[in-house]
Amino acid sequence: MNKFYTVIKSVVLFTVVFTVLYSCKENEKKVTTEKVVKIDTIAKKIDTVIKPKYPDYLTVDFLMGKFNPAKDDRFVRIEDKYTNKKNIYLNKEAYDAFLKMYQAAYKDGFKLVIVSATRNFDYQKNIWERKWKQKAQITDKAKRTIEILKYSAMPGTSRHHWGTEVDLNVLENSFYTKGEGKKIFDWMIKNAHKYGFYRPYTAGRPYGYNEEKWHWSYIPVSKTYTEYAKKNMKDEFISGFSGAETAKGIQVTKKYILGIDKSCF
Ligand SMILES: [Zn+2]
Repeated sequence: MNKFYTVIKSVVLFTVVFTVLYSCKENEKKVTTEKVVKIDTIAKKIDTVIKPKYPDYLTVDFLMGKFNPAKDDRFVRIEDKYTNKKNIYLNKEAYDAFLKMYQAAYKDGFKLVIVSATRNFDYQKNIWERKWKQKAQITDKAKRTIEILKYSAMPGTSRHHWGTEVDLNVLENSFYTKGEGKKIFDWMIKNAHKYGFYRPYTAGRPYGYNEEKWHWSYIPVSKTYTEYAKKNMKDEFISGFSGAETAKGIQVTKKYILGIDKSCF
């Protein structure tokens, strides 16, 4: 009988010791996991402090095209052979990528011609004021603005301010639906993304500018600008040209600056 109790005692003791030890291990694990999570959070915080999310030059004024690309070393003059304009500029990275895409297209038998690139606030203002006068028969200012906004941006809100955008070859959608134009467009759809170029103004978006088959954006840079615009741009900042006061009612930031194809976010 005594032997039996000794065995039972041993079994009970073993169970208790095992349970205690095991639960200690479990706690140890929890503590370790918690520590890792905490360290990880701190590391992320430090990382954010050390590496700022946006480059120093990225300000609302920059987004709004309030600079001169000819005097700005982030921009580079486009060589004459790639454009039908004189003295137009692109963001350096966007230009390097364009040159690679140009070579690839050229090998396949297509010539890409930049017909518009960086346009600063003043340049866009000239376009806007000209169109504002042309549409003078539309006396309701908001309606006149919406009419111009089918294809042209308000000064301060154009992606062309950024230096990441190019208009290629012909500024007509119909050109790209047949013949040589269609071949170029099909080539771009198949290949442009390999060089970082995407279309912000596709067909079938709920709002924003009409479709533009000629407009391509260098997303590795413009994506950051779009994100910055989403966080910092406000309709209230838009001013300094005819009809600027209509921007808020039309929700230009939401519907036009950010009314782009989802591939560009
Ligand atoms: Zn364009």
